[in-house]
Amino acid sequence: MKPNLQSDVKFLPGIGPKRSETLYEIGIVTVWDLLNYFPRRYLDRTNISRIGQLRIAEAATVVGRVENFGLIKNKSGRGSRFRLILSDDTGSINLIWFQGAQFYEKAFEIGEVLAVYGKVDFYGRERQITHPEFDRLSDEEDENFLHTGTIIPVYPSSEALRRKWFDSRGFRRLIKPLLDVTEEIEETLPLEIREKYKLLNRAATYRQIHFPLTHDNLHKAQERIKFEELFFLQLLMAFRKSQIHATQKGIVFEKVGDKTKELVDTLPFQLTEAQKNVMREIRADMKSVHPMNRLLQGDVGSGKTVVAILTMLIAVENGFQTAFMAPTEILAEQHYYVLQEYLWGMNVHVVLLKGGQKKSEREKILHDIQTHQADIVVGTHAIFQEQVEFNKLGLIVIDEQHRFGVMQRAEMRRKSVEKGFNPDVLVMTATPIPRTLAMSLYGDLDISIIGELPTGRKPIKTALRREDARDKIYQFIRDEIKKGRQCYIVYPLIETSEKTDLKAATEAYEKLSSKTFSDLRLGLLHGKMKSAEKQETMTLFKNHKLDILVSTTVIEVGVNIPNSTIMVIEHAERFGLTQLHQLRGRVGRGGEQSYCILLVGKDRLMDETEQRLKIMEETTDGFRIAEEDLKLRGPGEFFGTKQSGIPELKLAHILYDQDIMKLARTAAFELVKTDPQLRHVQNGGVRKKFETEYKDKMELGSVG
Ligand code: ADP
Ligand code: MG
Repeated sequence: MKPNLQSDVKFLPGIGPKRSETLYEIGIVTVWDLLNYFPRRYLDRTNISRIGQLRIAEAATVVGRVENFGLIKNKSGRGSRFRLILSDDTGSINLIWFQGAQFYEKAFEIGEVLAVYGKVDFYGRERQITHPEFDRLSDEEDENFLHTGTIIPVYPSSEALRRKWFDSRGFRRLIKPLLDVTEEIEETLPLEIREKYKLLNRAATYRQIHFPLTHDNLHKAQERIKFEELFFLQLLMAFRKSQIHATQKGIVFEKVGDKTKELVDTLPFQLTEAQKNVMREIRADMKSVHPMNRLLQGDVGSGKTVVAILTMLIAVENGFQTAFMAPTEILAEQHYYVLQEYLWGMNVHVVLLKGGQKKSEREKILHDIQTHQADIVVGTHAIFQEQVEFNKLGLIVIDEQHRFGVMQRAEMRRKSVEKGFNPDVLVMTATPIPRTLAMSLYGDLDISIIGELPTGRKPIKTALRREDARDKIYQFIRDEIKKGRQCYIVYPLIETSEKTDLKAATEAYEKLSSKTFSDLRLGLLHGKMKSAEKQETMTLFKNHKLDILVSTTVIEVGVNIPNSTIMVIEHAERFGLTQLHQLRGRVGRGGEQSYCILLVGKDRLMDETEQRLKIMEETTDGFRIAEEDLKLRGPGEFFGTKQSGIPELKLAHILYDQDIMKLARTAAFELVKTDPQLRHVQNGGVRKKFETEYKDKMELGSVG
């Protein structure tokens, strides 16, 4: 029987129930799933090197025949390696494996054709490739390839798949006969969009992505798939946005009251132009009947907090309550104190909700919230617990959004709507998010950017140093402290090695306070301390009762102590760049020259790590750092895939496909504008795919 798109792969020739299990495990159940298993790369004459011409240190792909192979013992008799000699008509090269020799001994046959990728190096006088990736070609493929210039797809595989003969060649054999089935694939994008953006039709796309006839076709197929992925992602954003705008009636905050004006006038500084612009944007949102849904971006130290406080004050002066959420308790407390300082004497009642409060104290706070005696409620996401009943919630300000993720943002809106409120939402993030990524992660939010730092700030001087510089660094700290400054010494703490990390920080503190700096005042801060202890230490440091604060990464965000001008980061190589940037942002917050010293643990770093850390020496531009970080780690790790709440992208890359992203965004937003319910016949394909694959994400989005 001829397979169709829905056929189970177990009915395909040569598969059967046993082998199909292996495919099920990687999520391939139907023929359609199989067609969505895209090649990882392609082989053709234009990207193949001749073995005779290979140069050292070059990463290359070669195709050749297996001449010979076998185990080679080391001279010492200990250890061995597996060597395979591969040749084409221009020469031969050794392929070397240090591990898995036993497996490889049985894996090859003399005379078979391999495509091999790897970096060429020297050993003795011979050229070799160590642990190459390889792909078997059939004789026929080899022939076609050499003589007709066919493009051969290379499919992703794994050790486990390979053992079941699902290597790349196995996938080619499986998929090639299915190309006819692509006729059944339904079009998703309307003709108008396909024509406007010059996109291949969907059925042809699936044929060309697997077995492209030409490079041009391949390119078109890739573009179409990327466009489609990004189009539906943006469609999701467009719907979220239009839903919030069109169907939900928000609060009109009529006026800017006297207290707000007074605060602006009495600030010890002038707002920067950027802050003023952002305030205008926020003000316009608050005045309109649509609920505000805005992201406030600004580098560390750019002055977001003031903007947030002014925004809250406007809400308060219009007779509403405000929730101010921070990702951690320590930050919530920080905000609480900052708010009290700014709002001192203004008769605005600010309360702090946190764990470990006395029952009576907590009840009093809950009561104040319920009766609207509290104007501003500061806390973590615990603010949205069941027992917390707002009287008249008008605004939610969320600090450091990416730690909450889209899910929580949606959840918060849902809970407020449930309770009969439809508040404005202002999300603040200190992680500068490259624009394209912002378009995906926060594509449903309006974006305001504070793109300049207050004047008079001196860029932080950053230096990468090794262990041998430690004494000098300590002397430098001493000199700064003599000038009346303060210092942070930060230790990494990650969950997987929490215990040892914590120990390292504590031991360092003990040694520093009893020996190195026994004449100075030191404090220790880490996440395992009791809330009250943490606060006490922070207060001591803030009031300059401590010279040095030894801490784990709990101080990463939000802490604002302008007199601290030095930060030493131990084991800097264990941090991500964005995290380093956040940490570094704790100094350089006043008028004094500040310093950040990145200490690297090992004597010799790998090139890559050093390169990475050098970026910190070169720039203090958070956007650039974030972009580099994103390139190095990919969006998944950058934000945590689960947290990011964005649909999986298979071909499109959030960073490298910016151009397509922009087009897809325009197309999606236009479509939602002209056909908000997707009722038009020509949009049936869009509607169907959206409903089956994206609707669940919409539910979540509709309230976020
Ligand atoms: P962010 O939250 O964006 O990291 P903050 O709001 O904490 O930054 O501001 C950092 C520091 O800069 C604070 O000490 C704040 O008082 C100060 N600040 C804010 N706005 C200005 C301004 N316009 N001019 C001078 N200093 C400012
Ligand atoms: Mg802040």
